[in-house]
Amino acid sequence: MDNPFRALPSVSQLLESPPLKKLIQNVNHNVVADGVRNFLDNLRQQMSQAAEKMELPSSSELAEKIATWLQKERRPTLRPVINGTGILLHTGLGRAPLAEAAIQAIEETARGYSSLEIDLESGERGQRAEIVRRLLCELTGAEDAVVVNNNAAATVLALATVAAQKQVLVSRGQLVEIGGSYRLPEVMACAGCQLREVGTTNKTRLSDYEAAIGEHTGGILRVHPSNYEIVGFTESVSIQELVQLGQRHGLPVIDDIGSGALLDFTRFGLGDEPQAAHSIQAGADLVLFSGDKLVGGPQAGIIVGTRKWVQAVLKHPLMRAMRVDKMTLAGLHATLELHLQPEQAEQQIPLLAMLATPLANLELRAKKLAGLLTPLPLLKNVSAISEFSMLGGGSIPSQKIPTWCVSCEPAHGSLQQLASQLRQLEPAVMGRIYQGRFLLDLRTIPPRHDLELVNLFEALSRQLAQPTSVSPAGST
Ligand SMILES: *Cc1c(COP(=O)(O)O)cnc(C)c1O
Repeated sequence: MDNPFRALPSVSQLLESPPLKKLIQNVNHNVVADGVRNFLDNLRQQMSQAAEKMELPSSSELAEKIATWLQKERRPTLRPVINGTGILLHTGLGRAPLAEAAIQAIEETARGYSSLEIDLESGERGQRAEIVRRLLCELTGAEDAVVVNNNAAATVLALATVAAQKQVLVSRGQLVEIGGSYRLPEVMACAGCQLREVGTTNKTRLSDYEAAIGEHTGGILRVHPSNYEIVGFTESVSIQELVQLGQRHGLPVIDDIGSGALLDFTRFGLGDEPQAAHSIQAGADLVLFSGDKLVGGPQAGIIVGTRKWVQAVLKHPLMRAMRVDKMTLAGLHATLELHLQPEQAEQQIPLLAMLATPLANLELRAKKLAGLLTPLPLLKNVSAISEFSMLGGGSIPSQKIPTWCVSCEPAHGSLQQLASQLRQLEPAVMGRIYQGRFLLDLRTIPPRHDLELVNLFEALSRQLAQPTSVSPAGST
C-alpha cells in the first residue's frame, strides 16, 4: 500500500511557493514556517481519520490555501463589528461608539505633543484633571471633578480615600454585581474598607442606617442598582436623606450612580436614570459614574463632588495607578462639550442619536433591507418585524426601546452556524437569536452600514455556494 502522506509537498517546498514567499516578506519566516507545519499536521491527521481516500489539492493550490488560512489566523482579535444585537451599550462590543468630535480630538492628541500637564498660561506644571474639570463642574453643578480609568476604579479610589480601615454602610438591596468580576463586597474589600450591610434586600429605612453608625463608621455608600430592579414590597432611602444623616454624624456620602446621565433621559422615552446633577444638588460628597455608558464617551470613571473630597481623591497614592491617558481625556472633553447643548448632544453623540432615531426610519430601513436580502439562497423567511432594543451595559434592564429588525432563518444549517459565519466576516456582523429566528436590529446599526450589510450577506452566500474541500481542523 502506498503512503498517501508522500503526496504532500514538504514544508521547504511550500515555503518556496509564491503566496507563502510573499507572506514571509510581510510577516516573518519562522511564523510562516510554523503555520505551514501546523497546517500539514492537521491535514495528515484528517487524512488518517478520513473514512475514504481524500482528494488532495495540487501543491500550488495547497500553498494558496495555507496562505489564506494563515492570513485569517493572524487577523487581530480586535476587529470592527456591525452591532445588530440591539443592545446599545454592549460591553462585549466596547459600549458607546464615539462622536466624530471625540474621534477627531483623540486623533489630534495622539499624533503629537499636547498640554497634558502643562498650564500654557504660566508654563508651570499642572494637573491633567484640569482638562475636563470645568466642563464636568458646569454640567453637574459640582465644585470639583477628576477622571480615572473606569467607574470600578472610581469606586475603589473613592472608598479608599473616604473610609480606609473603616466601615462603610451599604443597603442590602444595593450589593450589586456588574458583570462577573465586579461585585461590590469584593470591591470594598479591595479598597480596604469593611462592608457594613444595613436593612434587607427589599426594604432599607433611614433608621437602619442610623442604628448601624458607630465609632468605626467611615462613610455611607449608595449604589444605583442599574442592572436589576427590586419591585413589589420595597423601600429605600433617598440620597437627600442619606446626605442629611451623613451631615448629622460627620460622615461623607458616596453616590455610585453607575450609568450617569448628564441629560434627562425621559426625553428619549426612557425611565428615570439617575442624573449626576441631582445627586450633587442633594449634597452627595462624591458622585461616581462611567464615561462610556449614558455619557456616550470613552471608557472612564468620572468623580464629581465637593472640593474637599475630590482633592483628597487626587492626593491618594492609588490615583496615579488609575489615572487616564491623554487620548481618553481628549475624547471625553469633546463628548462633554457636546452635552452643553442637549440638541447638539442628541444629534452628534451616537448613543443619543440611536436612541432618538424615529421608529418610522427604522421601519423603512428594515423593510428595504429585508427586500434586498430575500433573494439570497443563504436565507429563508426574511421579513421586517417590530421588536425591542435594550440599553444594556448595566443600564435600565426593564426598559424596552421599540425598534425594527430584519428577521431571517438560514436556508440550510442551524441558527448558530449562521451566526458564527456572520461573525467571521469583515467587518463581523452580530445579531441576536430570538424565538428560532436571527434578528438584525436596525437601531444599533448606523444607516451607513446598510448597503455594506447586503454586500456582506451576498459575499457569504457566494462563499457557501462553493464546494468545500480540504481545510485544517477547526479553521472553518
Ligand atoms: C457599570 C457600573 C459600574 C462599573 O463601571 P465601569 O465603568 O464598567 O467600571 C459600577 N457601578 C455601577 C452602579 C454601574 O452601573
